[in-house]
Amino acid sequence: MNWEPWTGCYEVSDGCTYCYFYGPHSKRYGQNNIEKTNEFDKPVALTSKGSPKVSGGKIVATCFATDFFISEADEWRHQAWAMIKQRPDLEFLILTKRIERFPISLPTDWGDGYDNVNIGCTVENQSIADYRLPLFLSYPIKRRFIACAPLLGEIDLSPYLSGIEHVTVGGETGREARECDYAWVLKIREQCLTAGITFWFKNTGSFFRYDGVVQRVNPFKQNGLAKELGISILNGKRYF
Ligand code: SF4
Repeated sequence: MNWEPWTGCYEVSDGCTYCYFYGPHSKRYGQNNIEKTNEFDKPVALTSKGSPKVSGGKIVATCFATDFFISEADEWRHQAWAMIKQRPDLEFLILTKRIERFPISLPTDWGDGYDNVNIGCTVENQSIADYRLPLFLSYPIKRRFIACAPLLGEIDLSPYLSGIEHVTVGGETGREARECDYAWVLKIREQCLTAGITFWFKNTGSFFRYDGVVQRVNPFKQNGLAKELGISILNGKRYF
């Protein structure tokens, strides 16, 4: 299930260049102004009979059309944290490209982390990985995963995988997308195997280099093709 407490975003690193919420398509698909949405209180909203609209046991993935740690949402985030704390029966996945804002964005009772929060740090190339992941690992977080999406080059994650539960990899989507090389994906998979953690090849992206040949992949087939390759190691877990 998705929860978008606010929407709108703008570029923070190279991986954002062709994001639908920033850049050439923002007018059509999204917008750059950061605004609270009308589903802001979704995790704690009640039905007319007084029961929670969102039943327990679900994974709630948040902020696909924005960034949870974007500075424009500073005044709303404390309420979002309070709602997350109020629902220990839900598991929240928070994916960010602004991990450096994590320590200044925490609630006062965070301690060493809430049990029901899984933070995902996004990295698209080696230099971003070398900048963001040491910060990510230094912060008090109980459950961590890495998303290499869009994957824009070969990345060696191995110095950073201790303390990480999972890695997701995906290519870039869109007409201007940069290619994703299957060899890069396999190398990350190998690093995850060595570290003993789960790995999910989520989507190929629009331009997928396989065996040295770049193929154009229809947006509706990118997830299916990645799945067909059968390289994910999920051990029964689910990630977004
Ligand atoms: S941080 Fe995410 S949502 Fe924001 S512009 Fe970058 S890719 Fe898009």
